[in-house]
Amino acid sequence: MPELPEVETIARGVDARVRGDRVVQAWFGTHREPFKTPAARQAEGLEGRCVVSVHRTGKHIVCELGQQADAEPDAQWIVHLGMTGRLLVTTPEADVAAHTHARLTLASGRELRFVDPRRFGRLEFRVLSRTEGFKAPGADPLTIKVEDFIALFRGRKLAIKAALLNQTLLAGVGNIYADESLFRAGIRPRRRAGRLNREELERLREALRGVLRHAIRLGGSSVSDYVDAEGVRGFFQLEHCVYLRTGEPCRRCQTPIRRIELAGRGTHYCPQCQR
Ligand SMILES: [Zn+2]
Repeated sequence: MPELPEVETIARGVDARVRGDRVVQAWFGTHREPFKTPAARQAEGLEGRCVVSVHRTGKHIVCELGQQADAEPDAQWIVHLGMTGRLLVTTPEADVAAHTHARLTLASGRELRFVDPRRFGRLEFRVLSRTEGFKAPGADPLTIKVEDFIALFRGRKLAIKAALLNQTLLAGVGNIYADESLFRAGIRPRRRAGRLNREELERLREALRGVLRHAIRLGGSSVSDYVDAEGVRGFFQLEHCVYLRTGEPCRRCQTPIRRIELAGRGTHYCPQCQR
């Protein structure tokens, strides 16, 4: 499942390729699941509008649309990749992958395609004069201020790992980055969120931003893999310290990495380095 760094990388890659382009024609498939807004309304709204910019909000990719490329956005096309969704920028001649649910033909001749075999992804169209712009439910872990980060966990009885995964608190933190940031911060995943002291939370915020930024940097070098052809190929170059390393020696202290179930998720940590 794409996590925040992957979504950020895809959004940047798509932005670099389609910003300023105009949607000439929009085609949608017949499966209804991916369409949060009915396909016909999406097509009608998209056709003729320009892509002002593309960015990430939480784990969603938001295409800001306007009547002109340099106009104020008056609509949004919001893409959530779900488990297996891909957003590809291709040439029209490129083979249409199985499970392609949307094809936007652009004035430049390129195509923006949404492909999703398992159909947990969602496409939504918003007209900004009628609805608010898209907001993720939780705070963004890359931009949240330290005081706001600390306040998120105050008085919370759930485990810090579960709190990190709670999308209404922080948007877009998934299992890998939760485990890796807790390792970097030296905090056991089972600790109660509300019991962490200020210093620990400051460390955790830094660690979380660090792992996410690192992954975005690595992903940045493989953007073309994402948006041109193969989807997720080449992204997971991040050298994990704990994630999926059960029984292997900790990179810091050689203690075998332990795995527990927490909030229904496999959770990995070093019993020596994390307290
Ligand atoms: Zn260790």
